[in-house]
Amino acid sequence: MVEGIQSPAQVTYWLMTGQTLFVALNLLGVACFFYIVSKRMAPLIRGERDWRFDRPLVRLERLLQFWLGQWKHPRFPTAGIMHILIFASFLILATQAFSLLVLGVSRNFVLPGSSEGIGLIYVIVKDYAATIVFCCMVVAATRRLVFKPARYAVPARYGKGHPVDAIFLLGLIALLMASESLFEASKAAFQTQQGQPVEFLAALSLPWMLKNVLISTPLPTLQTLHLGAYFVDVLTFYFLLCYRPFGIQFHVETSLFNVYFAKLDRGTVKPVRWGVSDEHLDQVKSFGVKTFEDFTWKHMLDFYSCADCGRCSDQCPANAVGRPLSPRFITIKARDYSFQHYPMFGSSGNGTPLIGSIYSEDEIWSCTTCGACEEECPLLIQYIDKIVDLRRGMIDDGNVPQSLQKPLKALESRGNPYGKMEKKRAEWTKAKDFSQTCAVKTVDGKSNADTLYFVDSITSYDDRMQSIGRATARILDSAGVNFGILGAAEKDSGHDARRFGEETLFMALRDHNVDAIKASGVQHIVTSDPHAYNALKHDYKDVPPVEHISQVICREVKSGNLKLDPVENADNVYAYHDPCYLGRHNQVYDDPRDVLDAIPGLKRVEMDRCRDRSFCCGGGGLMLFYEPKEDERMGVKRVKMAAEAGANVIVTACPFCMVNIEDAIKVAGLEGKMTAIDLAELVDKQLVRPAPVKLEHDKLTGEVLA
Ligand code: SF4
Ligand code: SF4
Repeated sequence: MVEGIQSPAQVTYWLMTGQTLFVALNLLGVACFFYIVSKRMAPLIRGERDWRFDRPLVRLERLLQFWLGQWKHPRFPTAGIMHILIFASFLILATQAFSLLVLGVSRNFVLPGSSEGIGLIYVIVKDYAATIVFCCMVVAATRRLVFKPARYAVPARYGKGHPVDAIFLLGLIALLMASESLFEASKAAFQTQQGQPVEFLAALSLPWMLKNVLISTPLPTLQTLHLGAYFVDVLTFYFLLCYRPFGIQFHVETSLFNVYFAKLDRGTVKPVRWGVSDEHLDQVKSFGVKTFEDFTWKHMLDFYSCADCGRCSDQCPANAVGRPLSPRFITIKARDYSFQHYPMFGSSGNGTPLIGSIYSEDEIWSCTTCGACEEECPLLIQYIDKIVDLRRGMIDDGNVPQSLQKPLKALESRGNPYGKMEKKRAEWTKAKDFSQTCAVKTVDGKSNADTLYFVDSITSYDDRMQSIGRATARILDSAGVNFGILGAAEKDSGHDARRFGEETLFMALRDHNVDAIKASGVQHIVTSDPHAYNALKHDYKDVPPVEHISQVICREVKSGNLKLDPVENADNVYAYHDPCYLGRHNQVYDDPRDVLDAIPGLKRVEMDRCRDRSFCCGGGGLMLFYEPKEDERMGVKRVKMAAEAGANVIVTACPFCMVNIEDAIKVAGLEGKMTAIDLAELVDKQLVRPAPVKLEHDKLTGEVLA
């Protein structure tokens, strides 16, 4: 007669006591795991410095939000909710996994307090957690095998996918849940048959169901199942622990650190070298990333932390229009490189140039730095800094695309990418109809202007975009802002030169502008160009606070200082296109919308991709000079999105968006049916004025708007 079920530690296996066997297994499992992880950390130790130890409270808060709170996951509802359930269940089951391992070495171990209060609640919750994880594994495997969501697919140019690996891992996790549940169910069935007090199992949970299946099973079989399930559980646990660092599941271990050390400041670009000031940059032998070891340790940690969920590439406009760039594969290729060149045994690292081996030049130049990938990634993985660093490396090697050479040279010699004369920078203020009604002064330190309108190159020199400059000036004038411009003393903000990897050129432009701004004596800066706004806010130091014109207008309209007339044509439907450097990079989403909503009679719709999911128009700055390989222009896709939303007027707040969108309207054959207007132009048009003013954008956008 069997007295009670024997626990794994009580049994003798192959002449070895259970306790000895499981102590050995635990030690071996933990030792293997630490060996593997130490090998994975080897490139991080060789990687470049990265300063991620500041602002611990902010980091902690973000850890709670994005890691523990899984904040970004519901953006993709099905996969997101499943992930939240799995994540929460894993957290719950961590204690159970620990107690099971201890049970192998301590025969009567029970979790302290598990028979009362919170302990009892835990016993119930953990049964459901195991059931949830098991079901989620089945659903996830079915999705991957049957429904095959497009974002998991691996296009041929990026190599092969790892579907077998993914299914194998899902299977292992399901096996872990099943073995844990069987371990408990066999014990409960045994106790029931023996008439002993039965350990509680939550109704309808996996262990509960298994117990009901096993209720009439002979006792010796239950004993075998109990011990067998324990064995399988321990082996699967350690196998999973040691196997995860070889693939996408490594994020289970790294994600906590990755999220804690994630970049905190939007809109910024990492320095060329952490710890090396601008003054000492000439001592840096090589700029940017050329080999894998040139990446910073945090960027390498990003590579390990990617869950291969495909969300970044799903939102990437470059990927959507068929450019040779998919951010997900920037990571996957680097991770594969690391695994291959930092093996478990043998020598590591070989310093192979990345461009030409795992990345192509076109791939790296195809990025518009729109930030959609970063906004989407649930693990806060960064792409722009890596891409900028790879560009810095190419520029350092003199590897500049043909079409960019001329504008870069012009930026260097003339301070604008068009190669136009410095003295013509303020020509836009001299247009006849404009100068008669709005005088724009040049700030020189002696003038009494307290606000600088930083115009930047495209608005200063491009005939069409000058209209945005004049509209901005008239609005500032109407609002009673005492403003002026730098005129010939202004140079390009350098925003896009920096993001194209031309750090020294950027520094020269920035230093010139900072000196000119300081000399002007202004206390505020306003700009109508989100790229300049981003540069002045994040790339420049020691300059007065900067606002985008949409923020100024919003404030002045709300205070009643600016009044707006109703739209002339109430049939028009407006859609606001969020410029990446105003929206995603600087979180200015509401002000432009509030301004539009303040125009009486204006009908506004939202495009499907709006606000932080806005779809880049094609990129600004130097991207206007780059000719990527693509199937369709981003702007054309964007214009079609506006048409689908039912809009016939696209409002934007960026001169570069205007170039791309106006062009796209023509390419899409929508001329006469759709138009684009800058927010400043629209407000200028609707301003209530004491006397009418002749506006050139009436002519530009008149057909559709009238
Ligand atoms: S920044 Fe934009 S274009 Fe560049 S990889 Fe990310 S989503 Fe794609
Ligand atoms: S980088 Fe982030 S969003 Fe992209 S595949 Fe990896 S985990 Fe998913």
